[in-house]
This record gives sequence, structure tokens and C-alpha cells, in this order.
Amino acid sequence: MANQHKLRVAVIGGGIGGLSFAVSLRKLCGSCVKIDIYETAHAFTEAGAGIGLWPRVWHTMEALGLADDLSAIATSSGFAGQGQQIELRKSDRTTHGGSALSVPSAVWTQLAGTRGFHRAVFLAVLNAHLPPNPSYTAHFHKRLVSYATSPSDPEATILTFADGSTAVCDLLVGCDGIRSAIRGTMYQSQPTSVDPIWSGSIAYRSLVPRKVLAKAYPEHPLLTKSLQVGLTSS
Ligand SMILES: Cc1cc2nc3c(=O)[nH]c(=O)nc-3n(C[C@H](O)[C@H](O)[C@H](O)COP(=O)(O)OP(=O)(O)OC[C@H]3O[C@@H](n4cnc5c(N)ncnc54)[C@H](O)[C@@H]3O)c2cc1C
Repeated sequence: MANQHKLRVAVIGGGIGGLSFAVSLRKLCGSCVKIDIYETAHAFTEAGAGIGLWPRVWHTMEALGLADDLSAIATSSGFAGQGQQIELRKSDRTTHGGSALSVPSAVWTQLAGTRGFHRAVFLAVLNAHLPPNPSYTAHFHKRLVSYATSPSDPEATILTFADGSTAVCDLLVGCDGIRSAIRGTMYQSQPTSVDPIWSGSIAYRSLVPRKVLAKAYPEHPLLTKSLQVGLTSS
């Protein structure tokens, strides 16, 4: 079938959500659709260090045919159940000898089999499984501003980007993260704002070289146990 007769699917955002969707669509219907991914960045990239895939998500990855490639780059596979431990601690007790919080057995069951990945490497595996050209095209430096129904074809949607360019699709999929322009456009007629609101909680991460930690806190639990998860101190 020629490209112009295929369903034109536009995916806004090439993060974990957008690329997972594109890989899933390929698995479901091969080259029966034309997929265009529009990403505001210069490439498919992920900020941040690690991400954990819980067992149920892993089953989805298996179904998508990604298990072998992902297993090859996993930084850990199955924290619990293999003699390893996760401890939950209040952040202010991590270095002060406080005891770990008790973890309900249901949570342990979920944690068993959780796999860890470097975010950028994980995204690279998804990228490698995207459909081949010409049924799929990535467009970088494309920040969606808004969308609207095409005036000439009520079944088509016109996409408008920050650089003034436009594109057309039959199906629009918003994977553009927490400040989604898709959501903003979809709910623009709502009386109340749909912009994200700060809840009052902050999550932050940082990396400390193991050697530096060992020098400052030789007995730190991170050096003797598998994984410590810090919770808020209040
Ligand atoms: C500290 C922290 C730890 C986490 N740990 C885990 C974990 O261990 N396991 C887990 O499963 N989840 C975890 N999460 C959640 C997980 O990271 C997110 O759910 C996931 O990254 C969301 O992916 P996404 O593709 O929907 O959005 P994003 O990752 O935000 O991707 C959105 C993409 O869209 C692009 N974009 C944005 N706006 C536009 C636009 N207007 N036009 C075009 N492109 C646009 C962005 O550049 C980006 O590439 C964690 C989150 C945080 C903050």
C-alpha cells in the first residue's frame, strides 16, 4: 500500500512513552501505518540516571520482543529473591544508624524481578526497535504548540510547531510529558487550568562516586547492602 493510503499516526514526544508506543504499534500491525515521531530535542535522549522496570512492565517488554536486548544492558536483574536486599529508610537516618523500615510482604513480591537500567541506554534499545523507513520517520527540533481539526478534511488533524511549520495526521498520540502541549490544547476550553501544580513534595537524585562515599562513611549501608531507598525525612 502506498504511504499516502496508510493511517498517518503522529506521536508527539520521543521519551520512553512515545518510543514504547511506536515499538508496540510496529509489533501490532507491522508497516500498516505511517508513524511520525515529533521530538523537541535534537535526538532521543533521557535525562537522569537509572530506571527500574517492575515485573509487570517487564512482561510487556517480553511481549514486544525486547527481552534479550534489554537483558544485555540491565544493570541489575531481580533485586530480591536472589539473596539481595532493598531497604527503605528515612533519608535523615541513612547515615545515622537508624533501622530500616519494615516492607510489607506484598511489596517484596512486587520487587522480586525488578530490573534496573541506565535511562539513556534503555531508550537506545527502544530506538533500535523502531519500525524501518519509510513506515516510520523521526523529526527532531519539532516542538508542538497546538493542534486543530483540518478545515478541508474533518477527519484529519493539523499540527502546528514552534518553528511555524505544520504537519497533518489521522491519529494524534500525546506522549509529551508532564507539561503536555497536547493536554493543554485538548482541555483549553476547560474553566480550570490543567497545568501541573506543585504538590509540595520534591524528588531529587544525585550520584556520588563509591570511593568518595567509602572515604567519608566507611560503614554506610550502601556499601554493604544492595540498594537503599531513601524516603522523606518528615
Ligand atoms: C526521580 C524519578 C524517578 C523515577 N523512577 C521510575 C522508575 O524507577 N520506574 C518507572 O517505571 N518510572 C519511573 N519514573 C517515572 C518515569 O520516569 C516517567 O513516567 C516516564 O519517564 C514518562 O515518560 P514519557 O515518555 O511519558 O514522558 P517524558 O519522559 O517526559 O518524555 C516526553 C518527551 O516529549 C518531548 N516533548 C515535550 N513536549 C513536547 C512538545 N511540545 N513537542 C514535542 N516534543 C515534546 C520531551 O522532550 C521528551 O522527550 C521516575 C520519575 C522520576 C521523576
